[in-house]
Amino acid sequence: MTVHVVVVGGGFGGLNAARALASHGARVTLIDRENFHLFQPLLYQVATSGLNPADIAYPLRAVFHAAPQVQVRIGEVVNADLDARHVVLADGTRVPYDHLVLAAGATTADFGIPGVAEHALGLKRLADAPRLRGEVLRRFEEADAKPELVAQGWLTTMIVGGGPTGVEMAGALVELFSKVLAKDFPRLDVSRAKVVLVEMGDEVLPPFSPQSRRHAAEQLRRRGVDVLTGCRVQRVDGTHVWLDDGQSVSAATLVWAAGVTAVALPAQLGLSTTRDGRAVVSEDLSVPGHPHVWIVGDLAAAKDAGGQMLPQVAQPAIQGGRHVAQQILRRHAGLATRPFVYRDKGSMATIGRHAAVADLPWGIHLKGVVGWLAWLFLHLLTLMGFRNRLSVLLNWAWNYATWDRGTRLILETPSRRRSGEGMAA
Ligand SMILES: Cc1cc2nc3c(=O)[nH]c(=O)nc-3n(C[C@H](O)[C@H](O)[C@H](O)COP(=O)(O)OP(=O)(O)OC[C@H]3O[C@@H](n4cnc5c(N)ncnc54)[C@H](O)[C@@H]3O)c2cc1C
Repeated sequence: MTVHVVVVGGGFGGLNAARALASHGARVTLIDRENFHLFQPLLYQVATSGLNPADIAYPLRAVFHAAPQVQVRIGEVVNADLDARHVVLADGTRVPYDHLVLAAGATTADFGIPGVAEHALGLKRLADAPRLRGEVLRRFEEADAKPELVAQGWLTTMIVGGGPTGVEMAGALVELFSKVLAKDFPRLDVSRAKVVLVEMGDEVLPPFSPQSRRHAAEQLRRRGVDVLTGCRVQRVDGTHVWLDDGQSVSAATLVWAAGVTAVALPAQLGLSTTRDGRAVVSEDLSVPGHPHVWIVGDLAAAKDAGGQMLPQVAQPAIQGGRHVAQQILRRHAGLATRPFVYRDKGSMATIGRHAAVADLPWGIHLKGVVGWLAWLFLHLLTLMGFRNRLSVLLNWAWNYATWDRGTRLILETPSRRRSGEGMAA
């Protein structure tokens, strides 16, 4: 009999699980609260006017045009009965399953810091990116109308979190300010627009090699980013950020890239979780005591061979999704399951034009133009859909040749904030 698998989440983990299951004839119901797969690594380029939202999102139904055994369903899973084997959607619908794959990802974490949930902009869902873009552009419009605002930090954007998202965002913003907005706002002294990157560790890009960390910091500073390391944000309001070293920085725009926490679903289902909300999983990525429930990606507290928790990045989700598909088929066929073995393919971050760092397997480190080209090529390759790849390539070529950014549009009415996601403490 065909096995029926409900997959919750159409991100990197869920999509790869659903594809692998479908290719082996399983019946799949893929449930997501959005109707598209989002390529989160390029969200910052939408937020900095380099790409359109549609370039980095791909309709889930289109992914499975040729797979009639996959039913795509839009809906938010709010509960599940793991004994009776069904999930419950927000509208009360129950969807039964033989096996359940939870791949619902993570959400921006504000760590309970006062003011962050109200005043900071997260970057996690697609809607966050045009919102952030609009906020930054609106500050320039406001300062153009009232130049005295510049002295109050109106053109200062503070980015909290020196991981890849914060570094990439900082590099892209200084380029936007100095090359594009300087031309758009000839009456404004755009040289006073600042990008401040705050990292609580001693260096940016903490998980990268020492040479990549140093190179990234050097490049950011050379391009005009104020890099503050070794300090934490204590509280924020709409115009100021207070740091634990006593400084207060005037910044009208605050981007929160300080980390994520797993969505609340595992805890809601009564599963064991780690301190950061990830679900505890067995070696094969099933839930202990629930052999029909599997967890992958940002939501899973999966470990590498050395017992270290895997990072919340795309590769563990992709590999985990494919792995659980195989294990479900094995269990369905009465075979023993196999442990998940993660293959680290390295890490990359771009700082801007002609600058990136890449730490690859076998001790290979790339930087500069070579690293940048490798970053461009890899991201283009892993984007979903030919149309998206072509559109991204054309946008990049246009931006490169002209220093222009085509999508500097303000779409929202003025508002003080914030993420469509809401933040988790
Ligand atoms: C700005 C940013 C930049 C990043 N850059 C990189 C990078 O350069 N390289 C890298 O490797 N990783 C990067 N990451 C991390 C990477 O995107 C994640 O690790 C990866 O997406 C995790 O995959 P996932 O399948 O676990 O979750 P996701 O891809 O987040 O997918 C989760 C899915 O579940 C859906 N969902 C959530 N809750 C529910 C619910 N209750 N019911 C139904 N559906 C639900 C969501 O809509 C979403 O589609 C970045 C992340 C961000 C936010």
